[in-house]
Amino acid sequence: MAESCLFCRIVGGEIPAEEVFRTEDVLAFRDISPVAPVHVLVVPLVHHDSLSQLEDAELAGKLLLAAVEAARCENLLETGYRVVLNTGRDAGQSVGHIHAHVLGGRALEWPPG
Ligand code: AMP
Repeated sequence: MAESCLFCRIVGGEIPAEEVFRTEDVLAFRDISPVAPVHVLVVPLVHHDSLSQLEDAELAGKLLLAAVEAARCENLLETGYRVVLNTGRDAGQSVGHIHAHVLGGRALEWPPG
């Protein structure tokens, strides 16, 4: 755990969050400032700064499958959803702990801004 990391502190229960589900590898919780009717974040329990630092292929697969599970939990499989991993400054990554956004519940525009 990185002590100053916001999402490590959420994983550790130090900062409250609205959990969607938790496995032995990942935590899914609601984004505090949702940009869509459904906005869930999926994070590995273990700290990695971003997708660029993630070398564990098994964990990468689990993260992606957990994003699908979050979509399933939120009844998005039929209507569709978007999975976004903002990585680095130009992508607007604001929290340095890898996280997948799962967005849905409305028609999403493309391309993103
Ligand atoms: P990003 O900009 O891709 O790094 O995404 C970080 C996300 O974390 C943003 O959508 C924020 O709204 C969200 N966020 C920040 N703090 C919290 C928090 N305490 N609980 C839940 N989501 C948060």
